[in-house]
Amino acid sequence: MQRSKEKLYKIFKLEAEFNYANKAVVGGLEQLTQTWAGEARADGISEEDIQQVTDILNHYPELDTPQRGKALKKIGHLLDIPGIKHLPVFESQSSSSEEKEPQKPIESPPKKEHHAPEKKQGRGSTRRRANAPAPLPQEALPEGLDAPVTAVRGIGSKQSQLLAKLDLFTIEDMLYFFPHRYDDYSELKTIKDLTYGEEVTILAWVKSVKTFSTRNKKRKITQAIVTDSTGSIQLMWFNQEYHMRYLKKDMFLSISGKIEQYMGRLVMYHPDYEKVEKEQLHTNRIVPIYSLTARLSQRWLRRVMHNVVNYWAPKIPDFITEYILEDADLMDVSTALKEIHFPENKTSLKSARYRLAFDEIFLLQLGVLKQKYEWANLEGRVFDIEDDWLIDRVKHLEFKLTDAQIHVLSDIRQDLASGRPMNRLLQGDVGSGKTVVAALGLSIVLKHGAQGAFMAPTSILAEQHYHSLKRLLANPQDEGSVLQEEEIHLLIGDTPAKARKEILSGLADGRIKLVIGTHALIEDPVLFKDLQMVIVDEQHRFGVAQRAALREKGDNPHLLVMTATPIPRSLALTIYGDLDISVMDEMPAGRQPIETHIVYPIERERVYTLIRSQVEEGHQAFIIYPLVEGGEEQPDQAAVEEQVRLQEEVFPDLKVGLLHGRLRPDEKESVMRKFRDGEFDILVSTSVVEVGVDIPNATVMAVEGANRFGLAQLHQFRGRVGRAGDKSYCILIPETSEAAENERLLAMESTTDGFILAEYDLKQRGPGEFLGTRQSGYTDLRLANLTDVHLIEKARHYANLVFDNDPNLSAPEHQRMLDALNHFWPSEEGDIS
Ligand code: ADP
Ligand code: MG
Repeated sequence: MQRSKEKLYKIFKLEAEFNYANKAVVGGLEQLTQTWAGEARADGISEEDIQQVTDILNHYPELDTPQRGKALKKIGHLLDIPGIKHLPVFESQSSSSEEKEPQKPIESPPKKEHHAPEKKQGRGSTRRRANAPAPLPQEALPEGLDAPVTAVRGIGSKQSQLLAKLDLFTIEDMLYFFPHRYDDYSELKTIKDLTYGEEVTILAWVKSVKTFSTRNKKRKITQAIVTDSTGSIQLMWFNQEYHMRYLKKDMFLSISGKIEQYMGRLVMYHPDYEKVEKEQLHTNRIVPIYSLTARLSQRWLRRVMHNVVNYWAPKIPDFITEYILEDADLMDVSTALKEIHFPENKTSLKSARYRLAFDEIFLLQLGVLKQKYEWANLEGRVFDIEDDWLIDRVKHLEFKLTDAQIHVLSDIRQDLASGRPMNRLLQGDVGSGKTVVAALGLSIVLKHGAQGAFMAPTSILAEQHYHSLKRLLANPQDEGSVLQEEEIHLLIGDTPAKARKEILSGLADGRIKLVIGTHALIEDPVLFKDLQMVIVDEQHRFGVAQRAALREKGDNPHLLVMTATPIPRSLALTIYGDLDISVMDEMPAGRQPIETHIVYPIERERVYTLIRSQVEEGHQAFIIYPLVEGGEEQPDQAAVEEQVRLQEEVFPDLKVGLLHGRLRPDEKESVMRKFRDGEFDILVSTSVVEVGVDIPNATVMAVEGANRFGLAQLHQFRGRVGRAGDKSYCILIPETSEAAENERLLAMESTTDGFILAEYDLKQRGPGEFLGTRQSGYTDLRLANLTDVHLIEKARHYANLVFDNDPNLSAPEHQRMLDALNHFWPSEEGDIS
């Protein structure tokens, strides 16, 4: 949880314990607003949300108590903080038998069972992790890592159901359920040196404990005074009388928590504590904090984890060979697992994380190499072609190919002639001209009479490709064309049943040579007579399974996947390691860089002026909106409402078209066609125009509510203009002027280089989201940061080393590595291309 949210949670929880008496903060909760807003901003919480929270807090003192509870919960819903959403309600009577702590049913702190090994430990001495009484049945062996969590003592069926919510089913799941952060309570302090606001651990004796009611009798306060040789401090709990049962005079405790103030004196509210004789889990160390689910408590989970880790971590065999461990200077896996859960200190925690992250990349890389190796050993049909023929085809184009295009074409030509199936990723920024390269590649295969399939993520895009491929490959005016017009077809979701049937039979008996379509292509009944080349456009929009399915329609067909999402090198090498990569890093000549501007909403008129002047010069403009319909609340963010306003009030003399995802596919197609044919001057649209749509005459891309879109999407929008030689503009209009500070918008303004934006985007969002489709392997990256080039290079180095010597991992010393690999890449196919 972000710090600013966690802070609210802690304070509100305390406030609930005060039964909403507006006491959790000295001077009242309204005091929070000043500091909190800044912290929230730093955490990237939206300005709108901050404003609402501040408003609620400012009015908090005026509310009566039941309303206050509701007000705080409202904040919980607003910011999506589960703990706050479930705050206890205001109690009108002090019938406070109700559980305050949701976790209580499982967690009944300090229970007797814990007379763990009695080891005296001096302050600051290096603690030895005493082996807790074996939490597991004696016969449990390392093979039993897949044993259900109920094999752990203390986990019954009730708890296992809760753990299942965290995706923890087996012992191994638990071992690899890493803390999401740590509280560093390893700094010991004496009471005399405590200062307000710090988070600390103290060692102290209990001097007295008592419970009393507040003056209005609504709350029970349990108070303990503890002391060390330098002074004393009080600990306080509200309505948690059970501490009385555990805390006894003269008990020596390790106590961790935050130092607060109450009536001018230092106190600790609800601190964590435990007896010093025990090995300290919750205090006086770097304490792991795990993600929780309702009714599971941190203390309980931590204790269970400690048992699991202590018992199992030492028994985990290391799959990394000794040579690599030493050469790469890695921590062994047992130590790493112990340290990542219960770190001895910060340095060892860092080494542990590094080791476990290394494993992830190493296994990812090994899998990818294996894939490439297997693929390279398949046989592919040879498609060879005369130089003259290809040169003639290139000459017939309307333009001269760029050097980058020629280069990639020759890569493809080599692949096709190699006798192995092509397995290539073509990376090229929007507008770099990938389609024509793919078409020329296809033409080689089609020339030999074999079939090809071209898959695009949307119908609009498939239609567009259909038209351009028809022009390029089946032009009746060009006698060198490889196809007749009837040999190329479009197959999308709403192709009428009759036409569909004909296409299917044409593909099955080989009359149709090239089919272009959406995912409709991979549906069951589509059969090919002799599919030899598969092209997947905008491959990041497809899942692994979809690509594999299309490929399976042929017998080891050649595969070309294309993407306009520039992938940073470190990432590409790792996740696309099984593909050969071609990069098209050059734009066709005559393109002018697109001018990008952030324009404040109040300056919108300027944008309209720009659009009008561009239209007068014969050009067209896009205006993108985040919503289809905005209703009463945000009509100005919605395409439907704005199209009406723009047409009637702003551009009554121009033609303003409307495109959005709720139109029927044929309606969409007709709008796009009209726009392309110049029947509309301006196209108002939602993000459906995002990918690949080509309108060379458009020179303005205005994006309303620009702060709502992701960077990749904005870059794609921008790629819709500037596709011919004309000067083009991309105008980003945020919802509010504050939102103009948006970093993504500033990044857009600062560069048009897709690779730079991609690096940035990857850093901002992390690989999972960045890649969109969840693909095999990435989901298992819990620690590795794919922007950590150093780590990646290192893991790649050793993976290559192992693979070069023993590609099948058949050597005895690689047995465990093979097991780990199969575990990491569970599916037999494991196809990540
Ligand atoms: P993308 O790589 O984004 O898929 P397209 O293949 O859609 O790009 O090409 C963008 C536009 O550039 C198309 O109109 C295409 O005809 C044109 N184009 C492609 N290659 C060249 C070139 N070498 N010179 C001029 N225009 C080109
Ligand atoms: Mg394209």
